[in-house]
Amino acid sequence: MRIVLLGAPGSGKGTQTDAIIARYGVATVATGDLLRAEVAAGTELGRRAKPYMDAGELAPFDIVLGMIENGLKTLAQTNPKGFMMDGFPRDLAQAEALDGLLTRIGQPLDIVLFFEVDYEEIVKRLLGRGRADDNEETIRNRLRVYEEKTAPLIDYYTRKGLLRQVKGTGSIEEISQRIQAALDAVA
Ligand code: AMP
Repeated sequence: MRIVLLGAPGSGKGTQTDAIIARYGVATVATGDLLRAEVAAGTELGRRAKPYMDAGELAPFDIVLGMIENGLKTLAQTNPKGFMMDGFPRDLAQAEALDGLLTRIGQPLDIVLFFEVDYEEIVKRLLGRGRADDNEETIRNRLRVYEEKTAPLIDYYTRKGLLRQVKGTGSIEEISQRIQAALDAVA
């Protein structure tokens, strides 16, 4: 199964990935994790991406696309059960690039899970998380970037008939059940 997780920062995508991996055997690609690893390793790529991450802006297209291309190539070869993307695509250009890439390798998406959580809850969660880029100013900017650049993907994937909305509030277990129902319907 080939899945994209879509939702605002703090909507709970990362929290649910383990349960999805355990049930469906998909491999996961999280661009935020990949970028943080590059920063931690002090690579050239990490050095380029860090100022954007610190400011809550999107890292440059070429950096992120390169990481996705590499990740997907490896995954397509090593995991027949498919993949799940967390934090990618984050704008229309990335979504279109992903479409092109997946069409080329003959592995189109099966579902885009959209985590629906209201704004106040998101801010509360992000402030409680304590990651380096979770200070108030960066959070505000990340949400602005989400609204402006990522939220239009809800329409984009709705038009393609791929979007399934999941209510992202309640206990982790409740949310997990809703996700399972949505994924089982396309599995
Ligand atoms: P995340 O862990 O998904 O919240 O990502 C943390 C930060 O990494 C974001 O605020 C961006 O600066 C950067 N980032 C992650 N994924 C992407 C992406 N697909 N495109 C551009 N920047 C990204």
